[in-house]
Amino acid sequence: MTSLSGRTALVTGGSRGIGRGICERLAAEGALVAVHYGSDDGAAADTVATIEAAGGRAFAVRAELGVAGDADAVIGAVGAGLRERTGHAHLDVLVNNAAVGDSDGDIDSETPQAFDRLFAVNVRAPFFLIQKALPLMGAGGRIVNIGSGVTRIALPGELAYAMTKAAIETLTRNVANQVGSRGITVNTVAPGPTRTDRTAHFLDPPEAQAMVAANQALERVGTPADIAGVVAFLAGADSAWLTANVIDATGGSYLGPKRLG
Ligand code: NAP
Repeated sequence: MTSLSGRTALVTGGSRGIGRGICERLAAEGALVAVHYGSDDGAAADTVATIEAAGGRAFAVRAELGVAGDADAVIGAVGAGLRERTGHAHLDVLVNNAAVGDSDGDIDSETPQAFDRLFAVNVRAPFFLIQKALPLMGAGGRIVNIGSGVTRIALPGELAYAMTKAAIETLTRNVANQVGSRGITVNTVAPGPTRTDRTAHFLDPPEAQAMVAANQALERVGTPADIAGVVAFLAGADSAWLTANVIDATGGSYLGPKRLG
């Protein structure tokens, strides 16, 4: 028996990056994991195969987020996948991880199209995924939303993206207050710079590493496993008394000067 044995989980954007790390960790803890993804069939199949090779259980769910009917498509497929494997469609853990962050716009340059896309994928999709998932969840349920450290730091080129992650924090606090009576907790995990195949090109150069070291208490770039450990804690029994929190998982980004003078 491991801490999540007998539990079921859905991780959106679970095929790559941080989401993949979360899927692998939850499965290693014993959960049956629905690995959601958008379009990269190979990455999703590889994630499921890696989990199964390690003795875990997982299945892939393909559905684009940020389009009409996205939440219904995901939850419909997850319910069917769970029913097929367990005989019921009960969901214990929902991790809203999938997001886009590549608009590079600021107040003088952001376009309405890029702004709308960011909010459709990063805010509207998690909102309605929670709405559609809640009927499948019961006491002991866990919702973990992946936010970002950029909600407390004003970084150039991140304005609309940071606004979407601030909305996630508000979503977390409000839903937590509404579903607490059902024994369901809702928290946000806010990563800082984390190395994935998407971020490697700008986090790997020595100047980027030096900037991270200068501006973080823990002087390195994060890994998907760093974030997955925090999510696994929030998905498990030991976090039962924690709800409506934003857990800063940045390694201590931008806390202030390390020495004066
Ligand atoms: P990533 O490597 O780009 O992975 C994105 C995942 O989301 C993939 O599985 C992708 O599936 C899926 N996805 C993206 N857009 C989608 C869409 N429109 N519809 C359906 N699926 C979609 O992302 P990441 O860097 O690991 O980030 C994961 C989370 O952490 C995000 O919420 C991000 O905002 C947050 N975060 C990341 C960092 C960082 O430094 N990496 C820092 C702070 C916060 P396909 O490949 O099949 O499209």
